[in-house]
Amino acid sequence: MSSIAIERADRLKRLPPYLFAQIDLMKKEAQDDGWDIISLGIGDPDLPTPGHIIDELSASARRPQNHQYPSYEGMGSFRRACARWYEKRFGVSLDHGPEVLSLIGSKEGIAHIPLAFINPGDYVLVPDPAYPVYEIGTYFADGQVHFMPLEEKRGFLPDLGAIPSEVTKKSKLMFLNYPNNPTSACAEVDFYNEVVEFAVSHGIIVCSDIAYSEMAFDGYRPVSFLNAKGAKEVGVEFHSLSKTYNMTGWRIAFAVGNSDVLSGLGAIKTNVDSGVFQAVQESAICALEADQGCVEEMCRTYQGRRDVMLEGLAKIGLKADTPKATFYVWVSCPEGYTSAEFTAHLLKNCGVVTTPGNGFGPSGEGFVRMALTVSEERIREAISRMEKAGY
Ligand SMILES: *Cc1c(COP(=O)(O)O)cnc(C)c1O
Repeated sequence: MSSIAIERADRLKRLPPYLFAQIDLMKKEAQDDGWDIISLGIGDPDLPTPGHIIDELSASARRPQNHQYPSYEGMGSFRRACARWYEKRFGVSLDHGPEVLSLIGSKEGIAHIPLAFINPGDYVLVPDPAYPVYEIGTYFADGQVHFMPLEEKRGFLPDLGAIPSEVTKKSKLMFLNYPNNPTSACAEVDFYNEVVEFAVSHGIIVCSDIAYSEMAFDGYRPVSFLNAKGAKEVGVEFHSLSKTYNMTGWRIAFAVGNSDVLSGLGAIKTNVDSGVFQAVQESAICALEADQGCVEEMCRTYQGRRDVMLEGLAKIGLKADTPKATFYVWVSCPEGYTSAEFTAHLLKNCGVVTTPGNGFGPSGEGFVRMALTVSEERIREAISRMEKAGY
């Protein structure tokens, strides 16, 4: 048999190197050195999906009417539940027909939305550091990325006034994510009001990613972008059940807000996927409408871990702000270490996996991200190893 040259398309060649590939390699070496690895590297809840949601899936999976193709935009009952949840949680009213769209996880919607609105050469405003999908989704649509640096001195909010006017003129979309991965920073309505004003004056569609809105501590309640006046005229928000209900593997999320934006995204999706398994949608209705005690318990768990982590970091002299939300701690690298060097040091000398801040964008340099996705006991162990190893 003769073979052919398998050559990847330019769009794949253009991708930055996969962040975790090198970490995986170092992790293997640390394992070979005998370390029982503690992974603070992964943003995936370690806790199981609450039992009542699993029960709903098993009942729902047995109903034959759920075995066929679902509707593209999501079941009416699911979209009504999403709208009711937004009203109850944020005081935002939505028409479940045109203003709610089901997604196969919010990553899916985020990755696809540039395909609906970006022509070659159009700019997308992307926070830096950030969840990598905003940047890569833009490249897949042949768009140009303009990074908006998130600086500590501005509370990790972008400086909209600093975006060059040649860029704003050619910008079509802007991504935002608060509570933020990786910095754990939060935004308030004043900031979103500023964003709406900016979006209106430059004709930019805003895409707010609010995956962590329910993972908050000390009684803090994050706000929605749609709480800003006029937000629905300029943008959409991506919400996910993944982090709130420990459902990352289930693949269900939804987008809400501007109906023209959602119908553009929907036009891409009808040609790419065929909706979300109805049993999963019915389980999501159950998650959104049942007693939210499981969410409170999840927050208590992460708050306890956060406190152990922050106390430990302070004791060993590492600097980090106390997160009000998300399960991430954004830790400043000690003097003399880059993000990559500090990550390598912690892995080699402590068997602790963290994520180098520069993996989320150039402005993440000088930080590492630690995820609170292990038990308090393992966090204590990680701290004690770091204390012993020093830096
Ligand atoms: C985890 C996460 C999501 C959620 O992704 P799903 O595809 O809904 O599981 C979205 N945005 C950010 C920033 C995340 O960290």
